[in-house]
Amino acid sequence: MTVRGDGSHHVQTLHEPIGVAGQIIPWNFPLLMLSWKLGPALACGNTVVLKTAEQTPLSALLVGRLLHEAGLPEGVVNIVSGFGPTAGAAIASHMDIDKVAFTGSTDVGKIILELASKSNLKAVTLELGGKSPFIVCEDADVDQAVEMAHFALFFNQGQCCCAGSRTFVHERVYDEFVEKAKARAINRAVGDPFKSGIEQGPQVDSEQFEKILKYIRHGVDSGATLQAGGDRHGSKGYYIQPTVFSDVKDDMLIAKDEIFGPVQTILKFKNLDEVIARANNSRYGLAAGVFTQNLDTANRLMRALRVGSVWINCFDVFDATIPFGGYKMSGIGREKGIYSLNNYLQVKAVVTSIKNPAWL
Ligand code: ADP
Repeated sequence: MTVRGDGSHHVQTLHEPIGVAGQIIPWNFPLLMLSWKLGPALACGNTVVLKTAEQTPLSALLVGRLLHEAGLPEGVVNIVSGFGPTAGAAIASHMDIDKVAFTGSTDVGKIILELASKSNLKAVTLELGGKSPFIVCEDADVDQAVEMAHFALFFNQGQCCCAGSRTFVHERVYDEFVEKAKARAINRAVGDPFKSGIEQGPQVDSEQFEKILKYIRHGVDSGATLQAGGDRHGSKGYYIQPTVFSDVKDDMLIAKDEIFGPVQTILKFKNLDEVIARANNSRYGLAAGVFTQNLDTANRLMRALRVGSVWINCFDVFDATIPFGGYKMSGIGREKGIYSLNNYLQVKAVVTSIKNPAWL
């Protein structure tokens, strides 16, 4: 690209690959996370060392085989199945890896940043946790809002970094919303996800299963009202009943921590100023949902919320062209779309004298 400068020199920028990109992905969407990472890295001409999560190594290995069959030169994409503190840490601290892109928990994101700084100061992008507000305004159609809020939280067994896990409902529609959210959760079909009609399968492993049940016990002990669920589903496997808490207060652990499970927490609010302050009062800033028919309300909230994605009268709308990433402790950088390319390119400024007699 040519840059104007002050006119006394010819100035151009060259966009070059960073080099070797290390990528570390989580287990909740193994194939999607892989594609969000590989796409921009390869499009910008980098080579990749990608580590899958311990729980989900297989789909990436299959993609590796397909890439090989498709004729990708050897060494361009290298897939590593391994553990975080060993294989993952080796990527983050490797002196010959020029960039690391990580998706996972905020705690491990901090470790990645530390390892990068202690080794070669490789560029770091992070997509971390969230505790996203889903705000149901006073003018909302309650039936539609209940369905959207239900989807925002329960999709993928609640195992989404951007799950709408703080459901703020205006006091005017609160009671009706809680009743209907409870009924919707009770009706959610839980079971073998390979059977048709099933909406919710098991949690990924026993560790997550136990962690979620612990949060549910916390919710009950801290005084929130358990409207639905609250226990395991059946006696076999890591299934959890779709759970709904109402009367949730901002300082309860279930309203602050990322539960990563099928647990909806409903909070009441009175006006927009209040809900903006409360929604932003989180260490996270990944996403938010807004449910309203009022354009002024939508405009106000989209600007006031300190999050990387705002979905208005929709949720979890992902397309390869829409940037995704977090404010605050939800991350650094954006994935997908044109914005993701910045993470995988070096910019070189080239300034050439136009007065050098050698040119004449
Ligand atoms: P989750 O809580 O969703 O399991 P983690 O942050 O623990 O998320 O894991 C996400 C990815 O980070 C996985 O691929 C995991 O192996 C990797 N990981 C975990 N610990 C470390 C670490 N100390 N260094 C590098 N990578 C790690």
